[in-house]
Amino acid sequence: MSISANDPTRKTWLQVPENSDFPIQNIPFGVFLTRDDIITIGTRIGDTAIDLGALHQLGYFEGIPLTDDIFLQDTLNDFISDGKKTWRLVRNRIAEVFDANNDKLRDNEEHRQVVLFGLDEIEMQLPVQVGDYTDFYSSKEHATNVGTMFRDPENALLPNWLHIPVGYHGRSSSIIPSGIPIHRPQGQTKPKDADEPVFGPSQRVDFELEMAFITTDANHLGEPIPIDEAEDYIFGLVLFNDWSARDIQTWEYVPLGPFLAKNFASSISPWIVTLDALEPFRVESPKPEKKLLPYLQSTGKKSFDINLEVFIQPENGEETRVSKSNFKYMYWNMSQQLAHHTVNGCPVISGDMMGSGTISGPTPDSYGSMLELSWKGEKPVKLKDGSERKFIEDNDTVIMRGYCQNGYRIGFGEVSTKLLPVFEPKKK
Ligand code: CA
Repeated sequence: MSISANDPTRKTWLQVPENSDFPIQNIPFGVFLTRDDIITIGTRIGDTAIDLGALHQLGYFEGIPLTDDIFLQDTLNDFISDGKKTWRLVRNRIAEVFDANNDKLRDNEEHRQVVLFGLDEIEMQLPVQVGDYTDFYSSKEHATNVGTMFRDPENALLPNWLHIPVGYHGRSSSIIPSGIPIHRPQGQTKPKDADEPVFGPSQRVDFELEMAFITTDANHLGEPIPIDEAEDYIFGLVLFNDWSARDIQTWEYVPLGPFLAKNFASSISPWIVTLDALEPFRVESPKPEKKLLPYLQSTGKKSFDINLEVFIQPENGEETRVSKSNFKYMYWNMSQQLAHHTVNGCPVISGDMMGSGTISGPTPDSYGSMLELSWKGEKPVKLKDGSERKFIEDNDTVIMRGYCQNGYRIGFGEVSTKLLPVFEPKKK
């Protein structure tokens, strides 16, 4: 089925600001609370949010097999379960309804009143109920930098890294949408030269610049997903800030890997940009440096050219861009990650979220974490106001943005999270 929603020549009757991340060719999916306190599934064109529940009730999806309440839900999980064919039909129809030459909704004031919202009239929610969250470690530059800092520059990559998309199971309960502040975590750390560990606020709170993909129901227990079919089960992507406490991590991670250093928060951008919308931006993944086992051999362009940026904004200050990276640097692509994740028969369902791992590029200004940008605190990063950062300070806001650009622009908006001081219990 063709993806007519991607027609680059299409114009819409809605106002779209120049350089918007959300032209009519994007049509992402999200969940929002309206001015009337109603939760609904929606999309966005320019700076207009569109209530898909209302649009469906008014008959605009006639002819597409959808249950009556499919968009009147507080998560996208059921819609995602409907599968790729339905996602395409719905995106194509939305493109038609908002096409500049289609007067049906354009000239119906009454319908527009209930379907369209300004961004200041809505509050974005978590778009899916995340059943399981897995985090990979798929950027060779990031793995090399971390291995160089913490182990041995000569053997920075562990022997398995070029053969396996390394990952671990994370915690979905602390995945939050953009705009929700978090507290500096406390935990156990072992200061250098100390004999015993201490308890207190993490002194090394960091971001990780990642993207995450969201799956549909993919397989049953015991069934691997072949690599060539993996993309059929990927609904779309979001920006993903995988908050990390480096000092807690250093003390706890041997022998079983990340735990409390990682599970206090991961923030996502609220609009899921579909894999279909990213079609025009396909690129080759880096060439494998080792011959891969057959189940990991992928063919064709399985990566995407997505520009990524990280900004730090001190309280009441202006933003400073501290990193500029790209999703295409990922050594392991999403198809390889999903094929590997399920090769032992592990089931993947609608709403599962798979983090890419920190996306660092080849140059020091493209590193995806403060750990690398400040080289574990040895080279502080200068902000516009003259202050310096080794890691993230209280009341700093970390903002990540991402977009593709090639003739037109398809963007992700942003994920913005403020780091508050340590949580203080209310006095009784
Ligand atoms: Ca991570």
